[in-house]
Amino acid sequence: MRIALAALAILLAVSARAEAACSSWNPVWRAAAAANAKSVTASTWTFFEGRKGAEEGPGWDMYVPLILRTLDIRCEASDPGFAKALAGFQRRAKLKPTGRMDAATARALRGRWQWRRDFLKKAAKACPLADVATLQPVYAGDTRVLADRRVLTAYTHMRRAFEDAHPYMIRFGALDILSAWRDPAKDREVCKDNPTCNGVAKTDHCSSHWSGMALDLYVGMTGDYGPIDSNYENRLYQSRTVIYQWMLDHAGEYGFVNYPFEPWHWEWQEEVPAY
Ligand SMILES: [Zn+2]
Repeated sequence: MRIALAALAILLAVSARAEAACSSWNPVWRAAAAANAKSVTASTWTFFEGRKGAEEGPGWDMYVPLILRTLDIRCEASDPGFAKALAGFQRRAKLKPTGRMDAATARALRGRWQWRRDFLKKAAKACPLADVATLQPVYAGDTRVLADRRVLTAYTHMRRAFEDAHPYMIRFGALDILSAWRDPAKDREVCKDNPTCNGVAKTDHCSSHWSGMALDLYVGMTGDYGPIDSNYENRLYQSRTVIYQWMLDHAGEYGFVNYPFEPWHWEWQEEVPAY
């Protein structure tokens, strides 16, 4: 009984401390929190606005789970503790530490996330293309697709770990492969007359799917949208699923890093830097 009481006391102390980290009586953080509570669903600037304007926002709600990992806190975006932690990030990024999310802070966070992707560093020099002869087959539903052997090995381990944590979700298609290696010529052909086709029609575009190192995985979908529909409402929904949140916490252990605009898109690399 005494042990149980001691355990309960520790539990309460831990949760009280977690709550304390999210709340604050400092009027600066409280005012910043009120501003964040508004802009999170209303800001006109967004994190990836340069990509396809209509598919972002209003607001930056869909990036909150990723921001929390980056700040290493578990609060709501409307909490003073969030504002205080954000000010810490702003200070490190040499921005004014207001604790309020704004366009410059969004840019800095996006830069931090994109910096974690080896693919972008490689693509800056030359578009990395797969040696198609070495790719391994795997099934995406009934379709046989191809991917790099190392990617598939890592994927198998990761999927098993997810299944251990959430056995019932696997039966509903969680983490099923939707797309893997894609043929650049075919991608260009499909997108030839469609300027919004993931930008593929542009000649300077390079897709990480051409390298055999990227997988699109099922993380959920809502309404009439499909699992790789970049409509903001769909992506906002995906950002809160158990599958995506698990991936944010664990995918890096298996070498997978996310392109944050697309909750379903994961690239494999040998080392994934911390948030
Ligand atoms: Zn993808």
